[in-house]
Amino acid sequence: MAATDDTELPAISLRGLRKSFGAVTAVDGVDLDVADGEFFSMLGPSGSGKTTVLRMVAGFESPTAGQVRLAGEDVTRRPPFARDVNTVFQDYALFPHMSVRENVEYGLRVKRVPKAQRVARAAEALERVRLGEYGARRPGQLSGGQRQRVALARAIVNQPKVLLLDEPLGALDLKLRREMQVELKELQRSLGITFLFVTHDQEEALTMSDRIAVFNDGRIEQVATAHELYEHPATPFVARFVGTSNVIEGEEAVRLLGTAGTYSLRPEKIHLHVDSTSVPEGHAVTTAGVVREVVYLGSATQSIVDIDGGGSLIVLRQNQQSAADGETAGRGARVHLSWVREHAVDVTAAD
Ligand code: ATP
Repeated sequence: MAATDDTELPAISLRGLRKSFGAVTAVDGVDLDVADGEFFSMLGPSGSGKTTVLRMVAGFESPTAGQVRLAGEDVTRRPPFARDVNTVFQDYALFPHMSVRENVEYGLRVKRVPKAQRVARAAEALERVRLGEYGARRPGQLSGGQRQRVALARAIVNQPKVLLLDEPLGALDLKLRREMQVELKELQRSLGITFLFVTHDQEEALTMSDRIAVFNDGRIEQVATAHELYEHPATPFVARFVGTSNVIEGEEAVRLLGTAGTYSLRPEKIHLHVDSTSVPEGHAVTTAGVVREVVYLGSATQSIVDIDGGGSLIVLRQNQQSAADGETAGRGARVHLSWVREHAVDVTAAD
């Protein structure tokens, strides 16, 4: 037994992490703790620095400043092979001339794991990703989703403590992507490995992650659960990037909410009604306007309403609840809007 309890230590710990490429600052001071066994996502637009952070954790990139710790150990200066992590890339990076089984065994062969063990572990990894029958095929004889699973099998066969995934589902079509999201989450849960996952797809991050760091311009704007990010965005950027939000600021905030500042109001928190007398209880804020646009989304309908006095608000209504109003609140209709005051979340920037 070890004297210290490793499970208490974060699986990944980043402190003051920076990376510059010439004049470009890709990562601008990142502090982050990822717990052991956590499914943690780094979410942000293209160029916000997520991949560079991942590459510094993997050891493919060395930081300009700051520290990378894995299970408490400083690995900042260690090469990739001396870190207990494995990476799954978007392009899978499979060897086309090798069979699926050989691809999965490759890492074990490099580590000189004896043959019998290699075969057993590769078979188990392929079972895990439901490719037990496909060992003899070449990558070229597989679908995109199956190739993705081979890449996963190849990463988990080494039994790493931490798996780094850089947009691993990016090349898949939407339907397959949604299926793989569920599978990936189940795989992570059953293996108990820490996942550090990079994506620019907010829905993907919200679906799979225990916690998410939202990146913007080389920095983290907020670290929280999906629920927390959605219900209590900390900044206007998070409010806009995670889900859809009405950002109410300046004169509009004073007019509607009675205070200066910047507020995020989710479209489904706004009640839309044709009749001014049907304001739900507790809805302290009321306004009125004219419907500019109606977009039918299947399960819900989104309306854009130009409100009296200037500005517009996006309103989202579930269709089964709003069939009666929906019919009468088409383009050009005069409508009344109301919401609970507290649902307008203060996202005024701290600096
Ligand atoms: P994406 O989702 O497009 O991969 P990202 O959030 O992962 O974006 P990074 O790939 O980390 O962003 O890039 C952050 C910034 O650093 C970008 O401006 C990028 O152009 C720059 N950058 C990344 N790698 C290099 C490099 N090797 N040389 C020069 N600039 C780089």
